[in-house]
Amino acid sequence: MHPELDQETCSNCGNCVEICPGEVYQWIGERPEAVDAEECTECGACEEQCPVHAITMVDD
Ligand code: SF4
Ligand code: SF4
Repeated sequence: MHPELDQETCSNCGNCVEICPGEVYQWIGERPEAVDAEECTECGACEEQCPVHAITMVDD
């Protein structure tokens, strides 16, 4: 499993960058992106805590 971030829905709140224990997300300019998806431990925190449901866990 790895996260997919829908940039159209994302509000750029930064929650995912802050909470991810695997440091999957990084700011690219003013937008978070899932730049290190291979570091995902599948904890599910980003998907649960995204306020606008922009993150979906998908099968590899
Ligand atoms: S599921 Fe957990 S480890 Fe994977 S990207 Fe989300 S917060 Fe990070
Ligand atoms: S938690 Fe959701 S809305 Fe906030 S920056 Fe991440 S993807 Fe965007």
